[in-house]
Amino acid sequence: MREAMKNAEVGDDVFQEDPTVNQLEELAAKKAGKEAALFVPSGTMGNLIAVLTHCQRGDEVILEIDSHLYYYEVGSISAVAGVIPRLITGDKGIPDPQGIKMALRDENIHYPKTTLICLENTHNRAGGTITPPEVIEEICRLAHQRNIQVHLDGARIFNAAIALNIEPALLVKNVDSVMFCLSKGLSAPVGSILAGPKEFIQRARKNRKMLGGGMRQAGILAAAGIIALEQMMERLKEDHKNARILGEGLAHISGIKVDLETVQTNMVYLDLQESSMDTYQFLPKLAKYNILGSPRPPTKVRLVTHYGISEEDIYATVRAIKEIFS
Ligand SMILES: *Cc1c(COP(=O)(O)O)cnc(C)c1O
Repeated sequence: MREAMKNAEVGDDVFQEDPTVNQLEELAAKKAGKEAALFVPSGTMGNLIAVLTHCQRGDEVILEIDSHLYYYEVGSISAVAGVIPRLITGDKGIPDPQGIKMALRDENIHYPKTTLICLENTHNRAGGTITPPEVIEEICRLAHQRNIQVHLDGARIFNAAIALNIEPALLVKNVDSVMFCLSKGLSAPVGSILAGPKEFIQRARKNRKMLGGGMRQAGILAAAGIIALEQMMERLKEDHKNARILGEGLAHISGIKVDLETVQTNMVYLDLQESSMDTYQFLPKLAKYNILGSPRPPTKVRLVTHYGISEEDIYATVRAIKEIFS
């Protein structure tokens, strides 16, 4: 990636004159099976642009209660896009189409206009869990019957596609827009993609500029993104295999609970509830072994497998955690 970045041909992307960004956007649209795509600095900005482009101020957006868009994006959809979230609960991050149907209200002078449903695949806070294509399809059918759009936060959509062994485009074919990250598992240093119909992406491009996301010689970053899409997808299997080994290894340690049913992709969530430690007591002990996890207080910790972590590192991690609990 560093080599490709060094050699990238560039231009001014605000004027759509950066050949490397244009190439990335074309490739990304093709991978997603959508008409057009837009390179954005982050997944958070990509999601916000999607909401801004689909909705008017005061509109209602339906979201799963633990979705990244609601939980981790600084309230941007309300603070910036001016929409009102309506939350539904999911099972392992998967919303029940019936639950969504119940949340869709008939037109009434008292109600906000519902314009958008947001889904997340894989689901971060639920443990990297996969929403199956038939659930997405059913939700899209319900939404489209009522002229409601569906946006997919697919930050890790390629993890879902690789785990299901299907084309990513098949997983997103019914949604109106999708955001996915070139960073994270695909290992690019910067950047995400928003993909959808051509006319939608044209309006999204203007909203990106409004948010300060119009970039100049961004081909330097796009060059890494092209490698992410062309060469880094297959390697996600390695992360999934490692997460599985890690989950199974840790599930045997007394004091730790791992719900192996949620270990479907590249994440393992530990629950320390039955031990004498909580999240913030455990993480510094783990850090002493040079192993970092994300806090999910009060008693949970998220571990993520990624590029540069070998199977041997996984065994070393299991040994380290055994030692902490012995
Ligand atoms: C990481 C993530 C994002 C945001 O991406 P950033 O590039 O970190 O802003 C959005 N949604 C999900 C599900 C994520 O995991």
